[in-house]
Amino acid sequence: MWSKNVETFLCCDAAYEEAEIVLYGAPFDGTTSYRPGTRFGPAAIRHESYGLESYSLYLDRDLADGAVFDGGDLELPFGNTERVLAEIETREEQILRDGKLPFLLGGEHLVTLGAVRAAAERFPDLCIVHFDAHADLREEYLGETRSHASVLRRCHDLLGDGRIFQFGIRSGDRSEFLFSRAGHTQLHPFDTEGLTETLAALRDRPVYLTVDLDVLDPSVLPGTGTPEAGGISFDELRRAVTAVCQECRVIGLDVVELSPPYDHSGVSTAVAGKLVRELLLALSNQKRSE
Ligand code: MN
Ligand code: MN
Repeated sequence: MWSKNVETFLCCDAAYEEAEIVLYGAPFDGTTSYRPGTRFGPAAIRHESYGLESYSLYLDRDLADGAVFDGGDLELPFGNTERVLAEIETREEQILRDGKLPFLLGGEHLVTLGAVRAAAERFPDLCIVHFDAHADLREEYLGETRSHASVLRRCHDLLGDGRIFQFGIRSGDRSEFLFSRAGHTQLHPFDTEGLTETLAALRDRPVYLTVDLDVLDPSVLPGTGTPEAGGISFDELRRAVTAVCQECRVIGLDVVELSPPYDHSGVSTAVAGKLVRELLLALSNQKRSE
């Protein structure tokens, strides 16, 4: 049968009203410091998803059985960071208010701040589980307090101490690690060790999950703005995020920092798409009542 030529993520064609999960993109890379291009991430991930199976052997679930609405990309005002964040916050807030799970595709990592503002407003005891090569805890970067390099620091401003749990971190300014060690965040360097204990401690707390794809080794995912050698494997990340989704009360999430212009082989986009599929499926049977 004929249907409209509007590209959604694979099988994410449920009606909004019936959807449990709402996917949307924030094609923004306005504060990217090194290599821009993440604005093309959401569209590339959707397109590449048609190269994936809808069925996951890891989870024995199929996207075709799910209820996901893909709302496409926000139309964002380039050059105005605060308005971009406000647009994301508004969309996130609307999805949360409608009792659905928002899943944001970046874009650079700063987009997370817009989503976390809405999530923290609705869930005052919110915690964040963060996978990244970078701590993203700078007070400011190049004089800018709203930057991809400061995004978790801004989230800390909103949430306070003991609410942010970071994994895979292997790069940052010394001041960022001193900030973390002063008890402001719980930072697990290099890999996902300590995740099991963290998830046990977070049980029943509302969790926002943010995945900066550069947590993966650049041999796995070279197509990103700030590649950082020494990263984790796809399977380590897949197992970790699946555990977060299945053992915690995830109320919102994002996958950020895919940069298609640096993905010369296309493999990074394929990796990102597969991770998004696994996340969608891991979340699909979750109870999300407040
Ligand atoms: Mn980041
Ligand atoms: Mn990063």
